[in-house]
Amino acid sequence: MKRFKKPDWQKQISRERIEILFSEAEKIFRTNPERAKNYIKQAWRIALKYRVRIPLALKRSFCKKCFYYLKAGASASIRLNKQRLIITCKNCGAVKRIPYKRKG
Ligand SMILES: [Zn+2]
Repeated sequence: MKRFKKPDWQKQISRERIEILFSEAEKIFRTNPERAKNYIKQAWRIALKYRVRIPLALKRSFCKKCFYYLKAGASASIRLNKQRLIITCKNCGAVKRIPYKRKG
């Protein structure tokens, strides 16, 4: 018996859906953070189900703990500490540390 493999077009569609969900989350999070959170949760589920990677830039734009959309100055505080970017979620207080390289 042939093993079922997820076709590429399905992955492609999932990626597009993830990007759409994130852009919707970005649009709505100021007025409705709860709904933005749901969009991100949905995107996360799609990524797991179809085994697609969430692009790095999008991955950094939400809190992995509470799925809150993270926007500098609004829902997150971002500090630069030597070679690290420290992002704090204002909703649950989770801290993300991202290695950062300054150019030059
Ligand atoms: Zn959080």
